[in-house]
Amino acid sequence: MVVTTTKSSSSENLQCAFASRYVRTSLPKFKIPEKAMPKEAAYQIVNDELMLDGNPRLNLASFVTTWMEPECDKLIMASVNKNYVDMDEYPVTTELQNRCVNMIAHLFNAPVGDDETAIGVGTIGSSEAIMLAGLAFKRKWQAKRKAQGKPFDKPNIVTGANVQVCWEKFARYFEVELKEVKLREGYYVMDPVKAVEMVDENTICVAAILGSTLTGEFEDVKLLNELLSKKNEETGWDTPIHVDAASGGFIAPFIYPELEWDFRLPLVKSINVSGHKYGLVYAGVGWVVWRSKEDLPDELVFHINYLGSDQPTFTLNFSKGSSQIIAQYYQLIRLGVEGYKSIMENCTSNAKLLKEGIARTGKFNILSKDIGVPLVTFSLKDTTKYTVFQISDYLRRFGWIVPAYTMPPDAEHIAVLRVVIREDFNHSLAERLVSDIERVIKELEELPPRASVEAAKVITETQREICSYWRKISDKKCNGVC
Ligand SMILES: *Cc1c(COP(=O)(O)O)cnc(C)c1O
Repeated sequence: MVVTTTKSSSSENLQCAFASRYVRTSLPKFKIPEKAMPKEAAYQIVNDELMLDGNPRLNLASFVTTWMEPECDKLIMASVNKNYVDMDEYPVTTELQNRCVNMIAHLFNAPVGDDETAIGVGTIGSSEAIMLAGLAFKRKWQAKRKAQGKPFDKPNIVTGANVQVCWEKFARYFEVELKEVKLREGYYVMDPVKAVEMVDENTICVAAILGSTLTGEFEDVKLLNELLSKKNEETGWDTPIHVDAASGGFIAPFIYPELEWDFRLPLVKSINVSGHKYGLVYAGVGWVVWRSKEDLPDELVFHINYLGSDQPTFTLNFSKGSSQIIAQYYQLIRLGVEGYKSIMENCTSNAKLLKEGIARTGKFNILSKDIGVPLVTFSLKDTTKYTVFQISDYLRRFGWIVPAYTMPPDAEHIAVLRVVIREDFNHSLAERLVSDIERVIKELEELPPRASVEAAKVITETQREICSYWRKISDKKCNGVC
């Protein structure tokens, strides 16, 4: 977190064990040291402190890529000193980003003619992509309202309550009201019928998610398109759809090619995807593509004169690294459709194996669906003795990072655990995880009666606290799962 509110420990100075071979003075934590130090010492200090971070490969909380081939690591290291924005100096990198945009637009069935180039841009991740897509919708809507002589000061956006936090950021930063369709027990995605009911003349778009962050489930974009078309015909509005395919965009095209969720549906005007999730690149790359030129208002595109040449840009940031773009291009040509398909099938089969193992314990309900992002979301059948939060806590002892969280409104009384299956998760890890979950359950069940009664008290209190917390923030919901 950039905004630091508390100091991480009481001591103001770092005690550096092995670095004392090079330096003996202690190092202030929160002020830049007065003096320089030998490079070996700096390396030792930073490296030692980072040892206490979790192991990214065992981080089952995240969709973000934690392993790439050594050949790609080599390309990344070779380009860490290239600023992506210097397009004049690095025209080949720019060309690679354009190829990626076109490949992804075709993958999502954008109606791009043979002699046309697709409209899209590489970003830092889906969050930036969503800000850009949201802004385009807001501007288009405002321009139309202005032309009609109607008020244009109360834009809103319709989503499910299961949206990722970046949509709330978009709404707050860019002053758009977020209208959320509430969830309910047993139904954890946006209900298209309710979403369309919430659409009014001020709705800039309906955002559907291909791969809900909470359960991996794909929302029914086809039905949404159908219902919204009908409403548009009746009202004369032309409310569009954005698909947040952050996690599902590199899954559905490869293993569910028949599923219609993308530009095959006429109301879908823009789609985002995280290159660093199932695009299989390390953190720092996302993509947004528009259906056509008309869907990206020209006034948002900056034409800057950079070192003598005209460059159209549409991003929030200026400078950034080139490595992630290069790595994305590597993955697209290295794997091809065949490679992505086989990796996604493998992830799906590992998810299935894990799901079966978890179900076999008899202790859990499985909330995730077979079709969707390869992950397993599960809740406890019996919450009287211990909670998912305790299970998550105990699993840390084995090195596993498995998040536990409560669902958004109106399903906030449901608490779940979620395991995301990435390429680097395999059968033996799945078996190991199941056996560790079994050990944890056994331990929790064997807690002495007194302890378990006290634990139960704590649990009820925790649950109560969590529920009231959710209730408090249900208007400005925010969850830490990414
Ligand atoms: C991860 C995620 C995001 C945010 O994406 P970043 O690439 O991490 O910025 C947005 N929406 C959904 C559905 C996600 O899963």
